[in-house]
Amino acid sequence: MQTRVKVIGAGLAGCEAALQLASQGFFVDLYEMRPHLETPAHRGGDLAQLVCSNSFKGLGKTSAHGLLKNELTMLGSFLIEEAKKAQVPAGESLTVNRKVFSELVEKRILECDRITLHREEVTTLAGDIPTIIAAGPLASDALADYIFKKLGNGRLHFFDAIAPVVETDSIDFNHAFYRNRWEKGDTADFINCPLDVETYDAFVAKLREADLMEPKPFEKNELFEGCLPIEEMARRGTETLRFGPMRPVGLGLGNNGKKWHAVIQLRAENAQKTLFNMVGFQTRLKWNTQKELFSMVPALKNAQFARLGCMHRNTFIESPKLLKPSLQLKRGLPGCEDLPPIWFAGQITGAEGYTEAIATGWYAAWNLVSTLRHGVPSLLPVESCIRSLTDQLVSPNPDFQPMNFNFGLLPHLTEMKKKNKKEILAAQAEEAVLEWIRKYPHRDSNAGFTLRRGALYPTEL
Ligand SMILES: Cc1cc2nc3c(=O)[nH]c(=O)nc-3n(C[C@H](O)[C@H](O)[C@H](O)COP(=O)(O)OP(=O)(O)OC[C@H]3O[C@@H](n4cnc5c(N)ncnc54)[C@H](O)[C@@H]3O)c2cc1C
Repeated sequence: MQTRVKVIGAGLAGCEAALQLASQGFFVDLYEMRPHLETPAHRGGDLAQLVCSNSFKGLGKTSAHGLLKNELTMLGSFLIEEAKKAQVPAGESLTVNRKVFSELVEKRILECDRITLHREEVTTLAGDIPTIIAAGPLASDALADYIFKKLGNGRLHFFDAIAPVVETDSIDFNHAFYRNRWEKGDTADFINCPLDVETYDAFVAKLREADLMEPKPFEKNELFEGCLPIEEMARRGTETLRFGPMRPVGLGLGNNGKKWHAVIQLRAENAQKTLFNMVGFQTRLKWNTQKELFSMVPALKNAQFARLGCMHRNTFIESPKLLKPSLQLKRGLPGCEDLPPIWFAGQITGAEGYTEAIATGWYAAWNLVSTLRHGVPSLLPVESCIRSLTDQLVSPNPDFQPMNFNFGLLPHLTEMKKKNKKEILAAQAEEAVLEWIRKYPHRDSNAGFTLRRGALYPTEL
């Protein structure tokens, strides 16, 4: 049996996959093209780099992302473990210092003697070494061209945007205050920058006529609906932003005893809280326009930006046509006869989001291990979050678009009442995964990288 495997891309999915494979006794060649070859969004050579927000979203089990993270924790995700070590205060979400997180993941990878990190670009998939492709939404042109030529269908893509980051000491706290929505969390971690009705209306009006970074207007369906740029939201209606990232709810009352009209929230980028990012403020506006626009917000009048927003093409494959439920590329596709066994993981599958990238990295690795050892994948129960997410990726869908994990993907019971639906779905998912783990104990958490014997994978290497 082949015990050497290849992982392309040391991002979120690739690092999780490499560590899981190594923990099961495989020898992993992990390829990362940065820092020699940059992507339009990453900066430098950090592994598992968070390109935009520094948040893995909610932690509570009745939030979809909290539930997914809980599942990944139960299943022994290495990256979620490292994310918790790099956590910075941000209410009830798992928000990290991105630099510390990357360093922790890189340390774990470098210290693992079953993983060899190659700092080079992969451009073809020749050979017979089983491979996980986790090259992300910004896979290098050479590799993306090769894959799409091989798979015989057009490159799918949409446009994704990055939110600006502000230096804290440039914020005017005469016009800003620390508070978490609904006072959640032990400390007040978010900075709130309110706008009164006149300022808000002027802000939206300017936003509507502002210059875009790229002059050609993108088709509407090329944007990711879950992460729309602020200018697109403004274009959809004057009130859209007030019901989106600028919603003023859960923040108490202003000094005049009235509700806030609109609020921009900022979330800490690092534990020292010297940098804050503008939550939900992804934008593709020209940089000068961004500065002009944000200076209309009283608290940000003289703000200094550590990074301004920008926008990038986000590439994905047509997973419903190409992948099996185990995330393995279907065998026998015309033109792909010379390819080794391939699994896809991360955003390139159409699973949108950081936690989803980790989840699909974990899943592709476990299915690869099981397939190589036993000839069959190791599918999770249908009630689980990861299986629900990946089933949605591979279900027939002529209008396939990337999607975050959400409660709507979990199998619903017909008699389920709306009131406690989330609690029931969460309990159902958790119980199913616990049962799966009881049946197939998958990793001895104390054993580090030693191979777990017996149980699910009885074959020793
Ligand atoms: C601009 C942008 C902003 C985003 N913002 C968010 C956000 O705020 N929150 C969120 O949840 N999700 C966000 N996403 C979506 C997605 O969750 C992230 O892109 C996530 O990092 C995807 O993880 P991944 O492992 O699939 O890819 P990545 O983390 O991008 O990792 C892929 C790695 O492969 C490397 N690589 C590429 N091609 C090659 C090659 N040929 N050879 C060797 N190495 C290669 C890359 O350098 C990279 O390190 C964003 C996506 C984009 C594009």
